[in-house]
Amino acid sequence: MGEKVKLGVGLLLLAGCGVWLSFYYGTKPKPGEPVAHLQPLACAACGAAYAGEAGALPTKCQKCGKNEAYRALKCRNCNTLFPLVRAEGSFADKAGVKCTKCGKSSFTTEISSDELQKP
Ligand SMILES: [Zn+2]
Ligand SMILES: [Zn+2]
Repeated sequence: MGEKVKLGVGLLLLAGCGVWLSFYYGTKPKPGEPVAHLQPLACAACGAAYAGEAGALPTKCQKCGKNEAYRALKCRNCNTLFPLVRAEGSFADKAGVKCTKCGKSSFTTEISSDELQKP
């Protein structure tokens, strides 16, 4: 009897997860919908970090005009924002990325908007 109850609870949890997932994916913008998407960018040429609209990276730096603005990362050690310079569009390239200031390879992509200069 006890086992049956456990199984029932497990199935209920699974069903709950399914509902949550479909809700989560349902709130995402549909493909083809225009979305103003700002993301943290950092320039490999001048070192500026700011929130900018970016499609394919690297993109044109808003500060110096060079085509060297990449996705910005924040160093967990010294909080420096530095560009994720990568040749291919794959996140596997994150391996070996190091902070340009302290050289540590511990970083986060979570950068709050007040850490970025306004465009
Ligand atoms: Zn720049
Ligand atoms: Zn650092």
